[in-house]
Amino acid sequence: MDGPIDRRALDEPVHSQGSRSNAESWDPWTDNPRNARLSRQFRWLVTIAVANLSILAIDLHSLSDSFSTAVSLRLLVITPLVLLALGINRWSSNHRLQTVASACATVSLVATTAIIGQMAQEPFASRYLMAGQFIIFAAAVFAALPWRATQIMTVVSTAVYALVVASALQFPPRMVNLDLVGSNILIAILALYVRREKDARMNEILRMRRIDARRTDELRNANARLTQLSSTDALTGAFNRRYLEVFADNWSTSVVPSLSSGVLMIDVDHFKLFNDLSGHAEGDRCLQRVAGAIRSALRSPDDIVVRYGGEEFVVILPAADPFEALAVAERLRSAVSDLQIPHPGLVTHAVVTVSIGTCVAGPDENITDTIERADKLMYAAKKGGRNRVSA
Ligand code: GH3
Ligand code: MG
Ligand code: MG
Repeated sequence: MDGPIDRRALDEPVHSQGSRSNAESWDPWTDNPRNARLSRQFRWLVTIAVANLSILAIDLHSLSDSFSTAVSLRLLVITPLVLLALGINRWSSNHRLQTVASACATVSLVATTAIIGQMAQEPFASRYLMAGQFIIFAAAVFAALPWRATQIMTVVSTAVYALVVASALQFPPRMVNLDLVGSNILIAILALYVRREKDARMNEILRMRRIDARRTDELRNANARLTQLSSTDALTGAFNRRYLEVFADNWSTSVVPSLSSGVLMIDVDHFKLFNDLSGHAEGDRCLQRVAGAIRSALRSPDDIVVRYGGEEFVVILPAADPFEALAVAERLRSAVSDLQIPHPGLVTHAVVTVSIGTCVAGPDENITDTIERADKLMYAAKKGGRNRVSA
């Protein structure tokens, strides 16, 4: 019963009532962290310890001749047994021993209550005997012992109770109170049924919780994937314009004083001509390689590459001064021309190149304005002869 969590419960329907294998293979108590079950057992033991001592006051009022026997039973039998069970529950890691100790303490309480009831005078006698039946019922439902142990404890308690009340503590047995024996058997069956129902409900709740957790997880992953897809350009893997817009919106919302950031506007030179002569598919491949070269020339994964338009990219370099931005732009320009992608339409520069405009956004500057400035600088680089950086 103390085995690991039964993972099959994730996929299997709820176990049906009364199935034998069900009782043996699946114990919802053990699915909780073991500490939770132990603390429920602990609470049960504390409850019976307190009840046992409190009832001494009732004993004093309701018992006359047998009061000293009741005190002896409560203080010398039940109290030590419950304290022992509490100690084992707290300090032992032997789960079988913990279960046996709790069950013994409980059975001793049932036996003692029945014995005291048998010695008491009416009308108190019947109250004690009813209390014994109540303890059997409550123990099955609340003592938090594993299912098999609960069955054994309930049967033993019922047998002990029956022995005491039927024999009237005399030998040979007087065979009286058979109605109480009968009602106690019914109560024991009812208690086990209630406990089984409780386990089944708990089983169902745990199963639902796991399914719920798994679905939440799947949903979170799907959301993350969707967010990634909606912010990424499918062709180049760079961020898209939508991402840049969100980024720009959040640019000024940080309360942390920010450093200046470098902004690069990159445009592939004579790309229309490349497309016209090499075909659109070749143009796409070229854009992918250019994006790869840009990524390879960045300082760190914190630098951001955005596909701004058809053959235009924006790079944002957080915490970069103008010199650093210029150095990255130059490294990036070389990385593209170093790809040595043949450009069929060019005579002077026979390979694909980029022109770059670079500037720096001050801490209080709107990033969109900075991109516009970088765009103008990029056109200056075009005018200057392309394959160059303009700052
Ligand atoms: P410049 O050096 O002045 O930038 O000249 P350009 O030809 O690069 O500039 P222009 O704006 O005239 O042409 C851009 C071309 O980029 C037009 C279009 O055919 C091409 N283009 C835009 N998006 C894509 C794309 O996703 N795939 C391909 N293959 N080509 C694209
Ligand atoms: Mg362009
Ligand atoms: Mg271009």
